[in-house]
Amino acid sequence: MIMNSGSTKPVFFRFNDVLKDRPDRDFHIHTNITDGSSSLEEYIEKALSLHLPEIAFTEHVRRSSPWYHSFVERVEQLRESYKNKIRIFHGIEAKILNLQGDLDATDEMLDTAELILGSVHRFPDSCLQGFRTMDALPPSAFADSEFRLSLAIIKESRATVLAHPGGMYIRKFNEPFPRNYLENLIDLASKYDTAIEINSKYSKDVLFDVGMFSRLNPCISPGSDAHTIEDLGSVLQFMRSMQQRL
Ligand SMILES: [Zn+2]
Ligand SMILES: [Zn+2]
Repeated sequence: MIMNSGSTKPVFFRFNDVLKDRPDRDFHIHTNITDGSSSLEEYIEKALSLHLPEIAFTEHVRRSSPWYHSFVERVEQLRESYKNKIRIFHGIEAKILNLQGDLDATDEMLDTAELILGSVHRFPDSCLQGFRTMDALPPSAFADSEFRLSLAIIKESRATVLAHPGGMYIRKFNEPFPRNYLENLIDLASKYDTAIEINSKYSKDVLFDVGMFSRLNPCISPGSDAHTIEDLGSVLQFMRSMQQRL
């Protein structure tokens, strides 16, 4: 059993308020505990040099991840050491496993994590619509599958954030996720108390998203999806360019 010493969960703010005056934060960071290349300490030092008041480490987990306890303990130790300088959260990024909303994380991880990024990374068989792999799906069926899994994250899972909405589609087809799907997800996220991630690694087209985000004004979670300290804070530049386009 992990003792969550001094744990508080982050509060999410609405898009228009974040652009106006809310604190800078980067809530999507992978360290060398999983597939990132920088350490927890290196990220914290970099965050201090960027004057970031808040960061969240969101490691990729699976139900079988053996390092989870030591990760939480280490972040909690560092949080204590740096408590007067920066607020540090520990979270997870977990993929959705089915349309019933199960995430690839144990109940203990879901109970302990201060931030749960729910991600579409793979499509289960029930979403392949007769095709053998997700790679074989044509764009419309691919978008539809990613949309239905994203809906399950928002409506059925314990995720607090829908990570990189439409990200698999954007990466595969190199174009924005269809507007009607994105609009639907943003709209529903507000109703279900789920934050929508602004992910600077996947969302490449500021002009495409900014009007819709401003109009629907969801709670958002900014994330660079950092895998190295050079990536840290890149979402803030992305959001500043969103601000300029409004
Ligand atoms: Zn991801
Ligand atoms: Zn990630």
